[in-house]
Amino acid sequence: MPANKPVLTKDEELRARAAVVLPNLTHLSTANYPPNYSQFFSSADGCHATDVNGKVWIDYMCSFGPILLGHGHPAVEAAAAEQRAKGSALPGPGSCMVELAELLVSLTPFASWAMFQKNGSDATTLCARLARAHTRRRYILRAPGSYHGASHTWMSGRGVLDEEQAFQLEYTFNDLESAREAAQRAGGDLAAIVVAAFRWDFFHDLELPTQEFARGLRQLCDETGALLVLDDVRSSMRIDVRGSWYTLAPGVEPDLTAYCKGIANGYPLAAVLGREATRLCAQKAPSTGSFWASSVPMAAAIATIKAVISEDAISKTVASGERLRSGLQAQARAYDLRVSCSGPVQMPLLTFEGDREASPDGAGVKQDRWPRISRWCSECAARGVWFHPFHNNFLNAAHTLDVINATLHVTDKAFRAVRDEFGPDDSAAARVTPSARL
Ligand code: PMP
Repeated sequence: MPANKPVLTKDEELRARAAVVLPNLTHLSTANYPPNYSQFFSSADGCHATDVNGKVWIDYMCSFGPILLGHGHPAVEAAAAEQRAKGSALPGPGSCMVELAELLVSLTPFASWAMFQKNGSDATTLCARLARAHTRRRYILRAPGSYHGASHTWMSGRGVLDEEQAFQLEYTFNDLESAREAAQRAGGDLAAIVVAAFRWDFFHDLELPTQEFARGLRQLCDETGALLVLDDVRSSMRIDVRGSWYTLAPGVEPDLTAYCKGIANGYPLAAVLGREATRLCAQKAPSTGSFWASSVPMAAAIATIKAVISEDAISKTVASGERLRSGLQAQARAYDLRVSCSGPVQMPLLTFEGDREASPDGAGVKQDRWPRISRWCSECAARGVWFHPFHNNFLNAAHTLDVINATLHVTDKAFRAVRDEFGPDDSAAARVTPSARL
């Protein structure tokens, strides 16, 4: 008798096929999900996503950020469909390119021009190029844990020559002295300080910029003639439609900003916004790409940004995020577990102190070395709630308070499972870093 062949789920079957033709399964980072996560999805609506097995999840990753208003937002989809019917890759862009640039410039007090790309990496890499072109200098200061993209300018590793990251110096986020020291080392050759909207290094709590740090970077740029480049790719439009630092570091304006992720609610688009003084360098160091004129994402971006404003989407997301955070903290306390909830509430991260104490040097740690958060996430996943174990999560405007309450019902069971497996912590006290508020 032939042995019974195990019946594979659709997701397992796709994984098996992917293993043959896709070297990283679906993506570099998805291998880090606990095993009961699905890899392949068939549809999504609002804050829910349905995987290929037919299981419906509450989605707290929002495609790693791009879904800002909710999957399939009607106004965005209508604008995209209208433009698609007219054409997307025409001999040149539609009027939407001008309209979108006007909208972004009118919203962003410091900016007087916009340029468009496809990915966040395109935008941050262009910022580095523009800064060097504008200042005719070479050095760029960056914080090593702050991810800025997958281009050779930012990502080292196999296949990247050291020379491709020459003329870069490092500072530590929120440590102004380290930035001053690095600027001194660059001497008169400092082109730009590149800074993340907030600190989102893997295996660290998320950290908002201190006012002293943000103001100090601005001052350092003013003193040296370098440009301040804000990487707002991950936080695009989620914290403030004028740019994240108008909320997180009021009064501190960059010279260049890179946007992507949320600006078109899931359609591929990135943008660089610049100060008037940098217009000439933007003309001389232009960006291009096969899809530079694609109009559908631009039409989607206009509709997205208008809906963020007219639907008061950021305030709604903050209200839901605050409910989620306070609920998680109360549950952790009730189970005598010490956790940290960090970041702006609409881009939250939960960590367990017990994991951190077992692996104090978090850098490079894989999820299997953070057993509590892995267990907590798999318990949530088993009940259809999708959190990432160590990347910040994302709320969108469709995460209503009812959805948050349904989520908290699940997370309560997840905390109980962690407490039962690992035991309670000695002194329970949720540690909280300040959240961004409007
Ligand atoms: N900067 C930040 C802060 C990001 O989070 C990312 C993407 N995760 C990028 C840049 C690069 O964007 P992309 O993946 O669209 O190239």
